[in-house]
Amino acid sequence: MADHKQRLLVVAAHPGDFVWRSAGILAAAVANGGDARVVCLSYGARGESGELWKEEGQTLDNVKRIRDEESREAAAVLGASFSCFDLDDYPIRITPEVEDGLVDAILEFAPTHLITHAREDPFNPDHPAAFQAANQARMLSGGAGVASAFPRVSPPQMLLFEPHQPELCAFTPDLFVDITPVIELKVKAMNAMGAQNYLKQYYLERAQQRANHARRISGRKDIDYAEAFQRLLPDVVSAL
Ligand SMILES: [Zn+2]
Repeated sequence: MADHKQRLLVVAAHPGDFVWRSAGILAAAVANGGDARVVCLSYGARGESGELWKEEGQTLDNVKRIRDEESREAAAVLGASFSCFDLDDYPIRITPEVEDGLVDAILEFAPTHLITHAREDPFNPDHPAAFQAANQARMLSGGAGVASAFPRVSPPQMLLFEPHQPELCAFTPDLFVDITPVIELKVKAMNAMGAQNYLKQYYLERAQQRANHARRISGRKDIDYAEAFQRLLPDVVSAL
């Protein structure tokens, strides 16, 4: 799917999410002349920065500063831009400003693909909240498929990236993206997330297992690493 110029917009609850779940698809899009933008709702200072809090005298501001640096470095490796609404996490509470900000981001960037969390996650309250916010922004910026009395963009395809425990999140992949050519960039981006180093091996192995599935489905032998996604909406094509 990386053959056309794509504009990928990721809406993630926490910085780690865009790296583990979509670094490959972002790097592949950029490598193919596309554009990638990451919008995080929070810095994950409470939910995914436990390692940093082990340091004596640690402060919320310092944790956020470190996560901001890590996120920017990871995004830069992938060739993506990065911004963060800096909401508190665990729980993320979507404010009207963030609702409007997400709509503005979609109107301004006009993504071909909007990428976010699965609808459900029994272990993480922030992920479904991010899905709801991103999905609402998609509807408010894309309209209802008919003439609207507000500014709108061509509706982006919405892709759900792979949760940590897919079966428990009602996640059934229907799109595998070959990320073999950009796996080094994904590894580099994962390396940048120092506060969550323990997940790096896990997501490298996930990419190898998804590649096994992708090879079986496609018959292609050259896929060593893949990322899995689920479409929220049907694809529309002119010919098969
Ligand atoms: Zn997360």
